Amino acid sequence: MNSKNRTPSFSSNVNRMVKRAMKVLNVESGVAKAIMSCNSILQVRFPVDIRGKVEVFTGWRATHSTHRLPAKGGMRYAPIVSQDEVEALAALMTYKCAIVDVPFGGSKGGLQINPADYSRDEMELITRRFSRELVRKGFLSPSTNVPAPDMGTGEREMAWIADTYKHLHPEDINYAACVTGKPVHHGGIRGRKEATGRGVVYAIREFFRNPEDVKGVGLNGGLGDKHIIIQGLGNVGYHAAKLLQEEDCVRIIAIIERDGALYNEKGLQVERVKQYINEHKTIRGYPDAQFIEDGNSMLEHECDILIPAAMESQITADNADRIKTHLIVEAANGPVTFDADEILNHKGITILPDAYVNAGGVTVSYFEWIRNLAHIRFGRMERRYEELRGEIELSALENLTGKEVPTSVYKQLARGADEFDLVRSGLDDTMRLAYQEMRETFKADDRITDLRTAAYVVAVKKISRSYYDIGVY
Ligand code: NAD
Repeated sequence: MNSKNRTPSFSSNVNRMVKRAMKVLNVESGVAKAIMSCNSILQVRFPVDIRGKVEVFTGWRATHSTHRLPAKGGMRYAPIVSQDEVEALAALMTYKCAIVDVPFGGSKGGLQINPADYSRDEMELITRRFSRELVRKGFLSPSTNVPAPDMGTGEREMAWIADTYKHLHPEDINYAACVTGKPVHHGGIRGRKEATGRGVVYAIREFFRNPEDVKGVGLNGGLGDKHIIIQGLGNVGYHAAKLLQEEDCVRIIAIIERDGALYNEKGLQVERVKQYINEHKTIRGYPDAQFIEDGNSMLEHECDILIPAAMESQITADNADRIKTHLIVEAANGPVTFDADEILNHKGITILPDAYVNAGGVTVSYFEWIRNLAHIRFGRMERRYEELRGEIELSALENLTGKEVPTSVYKQLARGADEFDLVRSGLDDTMRLAYQEMRETFKADDRITDLRTAAYVVAVKKISRSYYDIGVY
């Protein structure tokens, strides 16, 4: 519990959700405790000279589980970061990796800071200092603990972290694998930046490939004509909304941001809104839309799909009863609290859970980590070979039929897969398989009444198996 207002803390929300799954599985209480508890947590306080004055910063890195190594999870920079939040997010990483079969343990880090208050050079100084603390205390290395971007961090911070580790461990040939989400020219992988948002889209598409599931939430037809409201136009929200609009032709009727919401029943142009935010640092004043001062009231507006993609605890016991959507797609971590989850389940609103929906980020981070250890770009060996083979097959086909293959088809078939193609294919496959596993688990047991519990049943089964196999030492 949060002692101030008696609302349950983020980590207790996650634990209560996991306990529902453990009840179905009848997990032995000791093993349940071992799975749920956070293995270790590091808190650091370090001074940095900012404009001639010493400022002390507080950061955390939690390792929730090490049944698989390295432990993996994002690094969050925000003023509201706390130990409880970092522990909850680290736990989510454990379950997330298990759900999508990524062989990592769960971890998460955070720094209490408002990045907007500091210059680029100051952010570099702070990030490098924080990274040194993590390396020295054994919370950062390619084989034990590997951060990635999260709220308030991106490629830039990941490049600084990798470079700091490299300076401290010049002998480590695998230094680039100490962090993922790096820029491509610093060992990053093509497609990582958009990976979480793209994964969200692949999750929604897989849901719509199952007409029975679509009908079950009171919708019909394809994704194309659906009305969507999205909260948060940051890394995850922007890429998800943009892809849904450009490739699936959905209508984004509202975008909720920190300072209000934009609403247009005919649809908002995501790219234009993003450019406006970049230019004006606010959504206020954006043309072609109604501005709504109380942004979060739009969470309660009627729509087909609601995508919270900003932060945790946005749908709580206070507003859950007024939510009018058919499907909630949790792109953010923990946007629905435990109590709200129970209310929504009771109301018959389906939730695609965070631990599944936003796993695209860690999936592509896994690909990046492998690429760094292999020291070779995906597709480098086979791309031209595939291209040549395609050309030979097509010319054989043309000779046999006496007909010319249309140029557009020819171009598609006589082409080898590049890194982008392979990353997208691997991500799509991962999201599809995980949905099917979660869905089958849900359908197979009457005691499981929602997809979140099904997802956690899948995760806990896999994690407890590894505890039983190896034993607890
Ligand atoms: P971000 O910082 O890039 O974007 C967050 C966006 O939400 C910003 O546009 C911000 O202005 C907006 N926002 C913040 N508070 C808000 C509020 N109260 N109401 C409305 N809008 C608000 O962060 P991100 O990386 O996109 O992460 C968003 C969520 O997705 C977080 O919960 C994060 O843990 C989760 N997530 C991120 C990744 C990743 O790869 N970046 C992976 C998995 C999960």
